[in-house]
Amino acid sequence: MSRFSLDGTRAFVTGANTGIGQAIAVDLARHGAHVVAVGRSSMEETLQAVAQASGRADVVQADLGSVAGAVAAFDEAGSRFGPIDTLVNNAGIIRRADSLDFTEADWDAVMDINLKVVFFLSQAFARSRIAAGQGGSIVNIASLLSFQGGIRIPSYTASKSGVAGLTKTLSNEWSAKGITVNAVAPGYVISNNTEALRADPERNRAILDRIPMGRWAEPVDIAGAVTFLASPAARYVTGITLPVDGGWLGR
Ligand code: NAP
Repeated sequence: MSRFSLDGTRAFVTGANTGIGQAIAVDLARHGAHVVAVGRSSMEETLQAVAQASGRADVVQADLGSVAGAVAAFDEAGSRFGPIDTLVNNAGIIRRADSLDFTEADWDAVMDINLKVVFFLSQAFARSRIAAGQGGSIVNIASLLSFQGGIRIPSYTASKSGVAGLTKTLSNEWSAKGITVNAVAPGYVISNNTEALRADPERNRAILDRIPMGRWAEPVDIAGAVTFLASPAARYVTGITLPVDGGWLGR
């Protein structure tokens, strides 16, 4: 069996209906994982893409803006489909405004889904794996804003920098129990998240000029790194935030 195979494993992927999460769901399924696609919107497109890749996916509907909803979805997945081997914390939001005007509501909404829910889903996952005497893998979706400051996105940068730190602390606690904890930091990816940037010709040009590869990423460009980190091939990789950015951070 290939050391990159996920045959016989089950993966819980948040925000799997679109964008990066959808590409991750399809790639994990293509490599043999049974995917549980989790989110609040229709997963029809994802289910079709997984079927086209000859993979298997099921759906759990959940609003991931609250810890209670997210953990209930994790428990539901376990009881309906069986134990989860891989947790992919992908769902996330961004709110843009000058820091002088930034509201508490925009701070809380972003921190809740991008960081707080990531922690408590990870806790639910690790509790279930450790109680079963099993290992597993957590892959968080971080950002270039885990390394850089950005502009007009204070809660997003705080949350994604938090994800990189959390990835390290959870790895320190759980890797000896067989749970690897890593993050993937996508560069600039074509998705709903970046619609505003791509619609602004000046920002779009400035971004493209800085990317050594000279193009935006497609969601599928991010998925391979997640599949790798979930696979036995990455069993000695833990605590890292892996940039997948077309060379951006090297500039
Ligand atoms: P996206 O298309 O906006 O996807 C965000 C996902 O999160 C969607 O599935 C969305 O579901 C889900 N989500 C948001 N709030 C939710 C809620 N309350 N309950 C359930 N699901 C919720 O953008 P994306 O680019 O694929 O983003 C995926 C991840 O990559 C995010 O963590 C983002 O921060 C990160 N990222 C993106 C980029 C980029 O350039 N695009 C770069 C670095 C990191 P709905 O469709 O139902 O809203």
